[in-house]
Amino acid sequence: MSRIPRIVILGAGYGGIVTAIGLQKELNYNEADVTLVNKHDYHYITTHLHMPAAGTDNPENARVDISKLIDEFKIDFVKSTVVQIRPHDKKIILEDSTLSYDYLVVGLGGEPETFGIPGLREYAMNIRSINSVRLIREHIEYQFAKFKREPGRTDYITFVVGGAGFTGIEFIGELADRVPELCREFDVDPALVKIYNIEASPTALPGFDPELVEYAMQVLSKKGVVFKIASAIKECTPDGVVLMDGEVIKSGTVVWTGGVRGNRMLEEAGFETMRGRIVVDQMLRTKEFDNVYVVGDCSIVLNEDGKPYPPTAQIATQQGEIVAYNLVAAIRNTPMKEFKFINRGVVASLGKNEAIGVVGDRKFKGTVAAMLKKAVDIRYLYKIGGIPLVIKKGRL
Ligand code: FAD
Ligand code: NAD
Repeated sequence: MSRIPRIVILGAGYGGIVTAIGLQKELNYNEADVTLVNKHDYHYITTHLHMPAAGTDNPENARVDISKLIDEFKIDFVKSTVVQIRPHDKKIILEDSTLSYDYLVVGLGGEPETFGIPGLREYAMNIRSINSVRLIREHIEYQFAKFKREPGRTDYITFVVGGAGFTGIEFIGELADRVPELCREFDVDPALVKIYNIEASPTALPGFDPELVEYAMQVLSKKGVVFKIASAIKECTPDGVVLMDGEVIKSGTVVWTGGVRGNRMLEEAGFETMRGRIVVDQMLRTKEFDNVYVVGDCSIVLNEDGKPYPPTAQIATQQGEIVAYNLVAAIRNTPMKEFKFINRGVVASLGKNEAIGVVGDRKFKGTVAAMLKKAVDIRYLYKIGGIPLVIKKGRL
């Protein structure tokens, strides 16, 4: 390759933006042409989205202009939607143009996994982007406004969250905090509002520390959440949900947090995938093409037991750092680094000033865990945008 190599990064989420920032720090002038493509001209802090979705925070706080994070003298930013990946031709088809690459980084994030459950795609909402959470927030307020016109319709103020994984639990914690505020604003008796969290597994937060799960359920139940555990959603309709045992819950608002899969474009591109995600090698490359790297929710990294690590911002960020390193190594023909996930712990919020977490072998709950959650958030903001971003978006 005698000309300057071209690196294209698809997606400016956790994996993509950290890759781009790593490359802009490491690459010398004229070592590579780097292009970052993203649907929007902002990066969103997905780990905050449960708050604007419930209306306990402004969506503006969960977005950061990409121009504030990258050096546009070093990285070309293209605001566009990727419609096709053609790894054999080394081309990316965008909605309005085509890009060629020598090295590709795929960081397009995940999509809601609906497991083919009828009606979920059509009638349920998802927490996945700034636009999707704006819709949920506005929809919830509209339900309260509609209820004032039709006071017999308690289904308008019945809220169903499908799935009690971390996304479902974090969202329902915020929603339970928001409801009393909405009741005051719309003069609605709080006793009439119902919030259901429906989980198919025999426990909420399957696989997480049972004592902390118990604590989370107590905190959320006290705030008015009704859990239906070991009770799968079988169908979603315009009027609510139908559960496995035939129970029907009438609700004007169904938020589906039942899991994520990789981006459909990866299957269409011919990569071998599992639930839309690509199993990568230790350098984070695909099996089929050693010039294609995958980060974040589009990738699968297996642990020592051969089981996939859960798709998280934590792993996406660590992958972004390694991919940047390995791309520089590929260009300079120096040794690459193997990816090893460092588990820094898991902390999940349960609404204002309440959280649960496990770091190493230590458990945390209540305000201490909530402070820990804030520290994790601040650490990420500092990593991508330094102190100015911490001050601007850190909700200090
Ligand atoms: P994303 O961050 O989803 O970014 C993908 C990017 O690609 C986006 O910018 C998107 O606009 C862009 N894109 C998508 N399709 C296209 C296209 N066709 N063309 C152009 N651009 C496109 N994980 C944790 O570790 N800790 C947490 O506390 C935590 N909290 C969470 C809270 C919530 C409410 C949710 C929903 C998730 C949470 N997660 C958390 C999981 C974490 O957010 C994801 O694992 C992480 O965002 C994945 O990063 P990513 O880089 O793969 O993709
Ligand atoms: P998930 O896959 O972790 O949880 C989905 C839940 O939905 C599961 O408990 C599953 O049993 C349940 N479910 C599936 N089908 C169902 C059905 N038909 N009816 C009822 N329940 C059903 O998905 P998630 O919560 O969106 O999390 C996605 C990823 O993001 C995970 O890796 C998670 O760890 C990560 N995340 C982390 C945090 C945090 O660290 N604070 C917060 C949010 C998300």
